[in-house]
Amino acid sequence: MIYREYGKTGKKVSTLGFGGMRFAEIDNRNVCVEMMVEAARGGVNYFDTAPEYFGTKGEEVFGEGLAELRRQGLPYYIATKTFKSSEKDIRNEIEDQLKRLGIETIDFYHIWCITNLPNWEKRKRKGILETFHKLKEEGLIRHICVSSHLIGDEIQELLMEGVFEGVLFGYSGYNFSTRQAAFKAITSKQIGCVVMNPLGGGLIPQNPEIFQFLKTQSDETVVEAALRFLFAHKEITVSLVGFDTLEHVREALKAINEYKPITQEQLNTIKGQAGRSFEGICTGCQYCDNCPEGIPIPKMMDAYNQKLLHGQDQDILSRLKWHWNVPQADAEKCTECGRCEEACTQHLDIINRLKYIAGLRP
Ligand code: SF4
Ligand code: SF4
Repeated sequence: MIYREYGKTGKKVSTLGFGGMRFAEIDNRNVCVEMMVEAARGGVNYFDTAPEYFGTKGEEVFGEGLAELRRQGLPYYIATKTFKSSEKDIRNEIEDQLKRLGIETIDFYHIWCITNLPNWEKRKRKGILETFHKLKEEGLIRHICVSSHLIGDEIQELLMEGVFEGVLFGYSGYNFSTRQAAFKAITSKQIGCVVMNPLGGGLIPQNPEIFQFLKTQSDETVVEAALRFLFAHKEITVSLVGFDTLEHVREALKAINEYKPITQEQLNTIKGQAGRSFEGICTGCQYCDNCPEGIPIPKMMDAYNQKLLHGQDQDILSRLKWHWNVPQADAEKCTECGRCEEACTQHLDIINRLKYIAGLRP
């Protein structure tokens, strides 16, 4: 196992983290606990959950798993999150979370899922930061973190406020170009960086031929290559994998245990090759993101990617609604000025794609 310093917290965490959002058999507690024990025996000490994974069952299962880790003397850090903003709501939530998890302190507590900067401002006006600081003083949490779906300059702006000790965001061989800017702030502010969704929501294993460019070892699977791509980023403290089965835990442990260091030069080459492999696919580079009508083009095109890769119209709408929180109706605002298509590094037919999205039936 490789361990890295989590920002300035003084904690050393495993660079492979356990994400508790994908258990295949959430009601089979023995299997879930066995998965956590297997990971911890392999050196994983970072465990991440949330109050709404499988309803409240995600944290309950973690509570049982953590008890078993303590019984076996296996060390761990626990990360979870809250959507709440007001002090009263956060206090109610954390009380329940601590009970479910069977612990007295949460190591890494996240302000959950900032989707845009106005949303962040709104939460601040409700006093969320003051409440988090009080929880820290009271010993209920150890570190103040944030999870975000922002991209590009926005995520950088959020982190440069300097109020967080760590950040969690999606990052993979599929969408890396959308969040490169975050690394500047992470380095400058020395904060912990946890990335999730390393397999692009299943896109990478489902499309191995497109993601061949991630491979640096001839005998590795595309899944191993996708994880090793993340391990190679020195700015990434923890790469979270949402494990579904025991087999999946073992596969990820193998990826880290047989990891051969990838140089910065190799990493740059991999990123450079992505453009050629992603023909027809929006890479999220954001060169188009200057629409006079305010259309969030990279987010719209990312949603359209889901159709290209999965072949389903409904995947476009789900992505817009649940991942980006962008109204489908934004696609109708296009005046066909052509500015975005001129800027597009992949020469995509953005205007037609927007028309397609606008015409979809929810
Ligand atoms: S063509 Fe449409 S989406 Fe592109 S910049 Fe112009 S108005 Fe915006
Ligand atoms: S539409 Fe083109 S320019 Fe815009 S983010 Fe996607 S690939 Fe980049």
